[in-house]
Amino acid sequence: MGLVQERVERVRGRIEAACRRAGRSPSEVTLIAVSKGFGPAAVRAAVAAGVAHIGENRVQEAQQKRADLGPTPGVTWHMVGHLQTNKVRAALATFDVIHSLDSLRLAEAIASRATRRVPVFIEVNVAGEATKGGFPLERLAETVETIRQMPDLEVLGLMTVAPLSRRAEDARPVFRALRQRAESLGLAGLSMGMTDDFEVAIEEGATHVRIGRAVFGERA
Ligand SMILES: *Cc1c(COP(=O)(O)O)cnc(C)c1O
Repeated sequence: MGLVQERVERVRGRIEAACRRAGRSPSEVTLIAVSKGFGPAAVRAAVAAGVAHIGENRVQEAQQKRADLGPTPGVTWHMVGHLQTNKVRAALATFDVIHSLDSLRLAEAIASRATRRVPVFIEVNVAGEATKGGFPLERLAETVETIRQMPDLEVLGLMTVAPLSRRAEDARPVFRALRQRAESLGLAGLSMGMTDDFEVAIEEGATHVRIGRAVFGERA
């Protein structure tokens, strides 16, 4: 058994355990393997291990990888990193889902270039970090409503990246705040949780976890 397959199985076990603790079904949690920094062979190994969702944070890197891989039937491609408006057209050709909708300008750019329904998560800067993108929690209802009115945008839910910390527990209040806001807005999707904090995210209601290192190893 290959290393990536072993890691995928270990991650799946941890997802299941976190679901059990939270009284949730593992079928409610989508594992997105974030392959940034790794080549097409790593993606192929993850897909062979049963991963059906691949995440990338750069348009160009993902484009190159997809070109190298050829068709990937049954695989859904997720853009999880900041997206510049001038790369929207390429992003729409490369990705199925966009998790990092972080400005109205970007939402308008996607709406104006979309030739299909585009599922998106609205990125929220829960802790109000100056170095991070995303909408503030304040006035989020208006933002969500505005984006929901845009043609071809399908708002699946909210997304966040928790502040960097050595303790996963530190992310819990951030994830909880996002979940409460999503519930109050009637949004079902919650894209939250990475290698260092995905179990806490699942306990707090994550529907999509974006996991890089625990699947592919440390990035160079
Ligand atoms: C890189 C990245 C991830 C995965 O991070 P790991 O710590 O490697 O699990 C998840 N989400 C976003 C937005 C990322 O950029």
